[in-house]
Amino acid sequence: MSTAVVDGVGVDAVVFDWGGTLAPHLDIDLLELWRAAAERLDPFHAEELAAQLVAVEAELWARTTATQESGTLDDLIALATARLGLDVAEAVRAEAALDHLDAWGVHLTHDPEAVATLTALRERGMAVGLVSNTHWPRAFHEQLLERDGLIGLIDVRLYSSELTHMKPHPSVFQAALAALGTGAQPLAAGRAVFVGDRPLDDIAGAKGIGMRAVLRPNPAVPGGPVEPDACITSLPELLPLIDGWRRSSARPRTSRRSPTGGHSGPVASGPITPPGSAPPGSAG
Ligand SMILES: [Mg+2]
Repeated sequence: MSTAVVDGVGVDAVVFDWGGTLAPHLDIDLLELWRAAAERLDPFHAEELAAQLVAVEAELWARTTATQESGTLDDLIALATARLGLDVAEAVRAEAALDHLDAWGVHLTHDPEAVATLTALRERGMAVGLVSNTHWPRAFHEQLLERDGLIGLIDVRLYSSELTHMKPHPSVFQAALAALGTGAQPLAAGRAVFVGDRPLDDIAGAKGIGMRAVLRPNPAVPGGPVEPDACITSLPELLPLIDGWRRSSARPRTSRRSPTGGHSGPVASGPITPPGSAPPGSAG
């Protein structure tokens, strides 16, 4: 774990990204994902059709990434219908897609240390949030969170499929702060920490509105010239980090000791430029 010095302001909430942060990075075989849909649409040309559906999903991700506008499963189906010249909607949504989401979910896991880490944060009186860039509906994500004992540990859960934009657009982070606030008063950005694996979507987005940001580096995602407030390699490393920030906020501002409490001192984090880049994914 490395940390950069952050002036002491109390930390009341921790907001997590999903894929690559609370859940292992998804290296989903999209061709397999769409094959079931294709077989329902045209079993005689299923392989060709599945490849086309994969391309359509990649096209939608490229579009939404460029504009930061969110996309939904409905958007994907509409685009597939237009590109393929087939009525994809009913076949995919009512039959293949939902069935396949169930099958896909079997292979999706969460970090085995997530429950303990989120429980420990809540025991400290902190609120916990989740913000995911995803095309999939809330129900899909929440059945996985419920299955793995996480849903009751996350107070605020936002999915870009229900928002107008995706991370790193500021409105997404502001929506999380509003949901974590009291009444009409949003939580102050400086009192919230965002934890994510994408330097641009997560770290630059959160810091852009004044949140602290902790990077869980992921070599499979694009890097970026941003400097997180800290880096972690496992979720439990958050606990001493946040304890240190909370202690430093309780001390006079002239006392600039290690924000990590028991660690050897702050280490400035440089720009994050992991090698390689990921293909369009399913949830970040
Ligand atoms: Mg992610």
